[in-house]
Amino acid sequence: MKKEQLYEGKAKKVYATEDENVLIVSYKDDATAFNGLKKGTIVGKGAINNRMSNYLMRKLEEEEGVPTHYIRELNETETEVKRVTIVPLEVIVRNIAAGSLSKRLGLPEGQKLKKTVLEFSYKNDELGDPMVNDYHIFAMELATPEELKQISDYALKVNEYLSRFLLECGIVLVDFKLEFGRTADGTIILADEISPDTCRFWDAKTGEKLDKDRFRRDLGNVEGAYAEVFKRIMG
Ligand code: UDP
Repeated sequence: MKKEQLYEGKAKKVYATEDENVLIVSYKDDATAFNGLKKGTIVGKGAINNRMSNYLMRKLEEEEGVPTHYIRELNETETEVKRVTIVPLEVIVRNIAAGSLSKRLGLPEGQKLKKTVLEFSYKNDELGDPMVNDYHIFAMELATPEELKQISDYALKVNEYLSRFLLECGIVLVDFKLEFGRTADGTIILADEISPDTCRFWDAKTGEKLDKDRFRRDLGNVEGAYAEVFKRIMG
């Protein structure tokens, strides 16, 4: 049973439950980009992201042994998750140059990277989520060395698994963002979501963008792209 609302983010609301270790996440159709500067609605996004993220987290947990916050899906847009304290890092994994990496380093969008790139940003809206390295992370005590090693290992494992699985669905996993949390006993688990809001998905044949870049860059047919990825992944 849903109790009081604890938090409202850009794309989700979080509610308490009778169990202090369990929260309910409710996905919204609201979309934002550029640190909240651009706002809009993507009709049906809440349900798609909820169901897709749950499906992928279940697979990662069952098939790869990656622990996640997922407990059970309650309905189209709501899911029970384990309560965690979010590690204030955005963990970004990149296979192909795009977005901020292309801008920063002058690499053309679409250039395959010779080696997978792992990046961390400090989750802080006021500062615009600045990129940090392991020295900053330890100096600011955002995570311990052991936690960062665990987070990095999980992130690379998620990349291996999802890249292979998505390619079977005709989708190239260009890059994505993960967030991790600590449970009450300090265990690191995968939290937040895995969806077209947080990943770059390109059609394997045509290179067509099937993710939030359609919204960010006003490419049109945003709903269609979310529905297409959903259909390909969930059958
Ligand atoms: N990303 C995200 N939330 C953020 C920033 C990035 O989910 O606040 C995802 C984004 O969708 C992409 C990847 O992380 O799949 C890399 O994003 P990038 O650093 O290129 O930033 P962007 O170009 O999206 O601003």
